[in-house]
Amino acid sequence: MAPSRPLSRFWEWGKNIVCVGRNYADHVREMRSTVLSEPVLFLKPSTAYVPEGSPIVMPAYSRNLHHELELGVVMGKRCRAAPESAAMDYVGGYALCLDMTARDVQDECKKKGLPWTLAKSFTASCPVSAFVPKEKIPDPHNLKLWLKVNGELRQEGETSSMIFSIPYIISYVSKIITLEEGDIILTGTPKGVGPVKENDEIEAGIHGLVNMRFKVEKSEYGGIS
Ligand code: ZN
Repeated sequence: MAPSRPLSRFWEWGKNIVCVGRNYADHVREMRSTVLSEPVLFLKPSTAYVPEGSPIVMPAYSRNLHHELELGVVMGKRCRAAPESAAMDYVGGYALCLDMTARDVQDECKKKGLPWTLAKSFTASCPVSAFVPKEKIPDPHNLKLWLKVNGELRQEGETSSMIFSIPYIISYVSKIITLEEGDIILTGTPKGVGPVKENDEIEAGIHGLVNMRFKVEKSEYGGIS
């Protein structure tokens, strides 16, 4: 009998979505931000997942929704305070992800010193590709990622230019948050983030491995104030 919780459908049952910010120097520069000595972490709820076939829904309280193209690392087993040297043993596979970001709201949060929850963790803020088993990716630091909006190339990045490596990130995160099977870590975006609007079509992929496509829709719900 097939397992009831196959890793290939992690978004249906995985609990934790942990995101790393500022992990590519070219993106840090385009944000006029600074590289930090440890990864910046934030969370998305598991209800943020958007599998292919479903639309990305824009939060009604934002006027500037951005795409951030990121490699997601899917955990294959429970992981608590893993040493960096053993961290890759806990990986079950990968998925391409979008860290959808309400940039105008994030700018406000930064100005006010508030958490990024409204900007990063709304419903539909985490579109994901099909699952890629780890056997298909012998070196996750040697991947080329790309993203197009309505056919126009917006983001192109190489995972070789991550500031913090995947084993470092897993080790660091797992000392703070216990990771479980089916959880995912989004490893940050390269440069080229930008706005999307209603009816836009986002297409993205990892060269030679996986492609995904999403339509952007307006929310049927109102604002929040
Ligand atoms: Zn991001």
